[in-house]
Amino acid sequence: MDKKLVVGNWKMNLLREEAREFSGTIADLLGEDYDACQVVLVPPYTALEVVGSRISGSTIDLGAQNVFGETSGAFTGEVSAPMLADAGCKWVIVGHSERRHILGETDEQIREKISISISCGLKAILCVGETEAQREEAIRRSEDVLTRKKLLFSPIKTQIESALDSLDQKQVSDIVIAYEPVWAIGTGKNATSLEIAEIHQYIRELLAEIFPGLGNNVRILYGGSVKTGNIVEIMSVEEVDGVLVGGASLSADSFFRIINSVGG
Ligand code: PEP
Repeated sequence: MDKKLVVGNWKMNLLREEAREFSGTIADLLGEDYDACQVVLVPPYTALEVVGSRISGSTIDLGAQNVFGETSGAFTGEVSAPMLADAGCKWVIVGHSERRHILGETDEQIREKISISISCGLKAILCVGETEAQREEAIRRSEDVLTRKKLLFSPIKTQIESALDSLDQKQVSDIVIAYEPVWAIGTGKNATSLEIAEIHQYIRELLAEIFPGLGNNVRILYGGSVKTGNIVEIMSVEEVDGVLVGGASLSADSFFRIINSVGG
């Protein structure tokens, strides 16, 4: 298994100068040789270049928040995987719940994005997670353990199986899964250790089925209102190999403290 991973998703925040300054602060705080965990900064497209140049020479990687499912052509407003690689990205987030639920991204589009990203040399962070209604429905059926589990795991199974469908076994090392319960993203509500453990364990089993012998090497991140106050507990959960951080990655102090908690 590779190092633990901390991914800071800035979403649609920070102008270029702010992004340059902020990424510089994180790079300086960590120092050039930081290697206790892998840190990835994921600014908006407009700030990729300034952040990339500010973190060059550090061990921090650059990532993008989205990608289009074709490599080039008449797709006004879209950005392709080769363009991201050319801009210095090593990583791309695919299937974030804000894209699935606000922008209507489908499992099929997500499969194309994963496939093209990996074939262009990017590492993909595939986000999956259930909605509040899906979790509540599973809880309502909790008198029957098997039904409860089936309902709870079903959206995650569909999202992962569909997204990874076109990958071959060799490509498994370029995939990271981020379990992000939709109801916990940007809401301040985070999943309990037990809730996280149950889903991460399920994802681990599913990955072992899809990639026999290799699924254990795929990192599984947790995301959803991760902050300094809950990072230690989250990282103590078995099968949590790092975190995807939204809001708390926009403060140098809290993001640095989260990185240090993960790096140990
Ligand atoms: C995210 O952006 O993936 C996320 C988990 O956001 P937040 O940490 O703000 O909930």
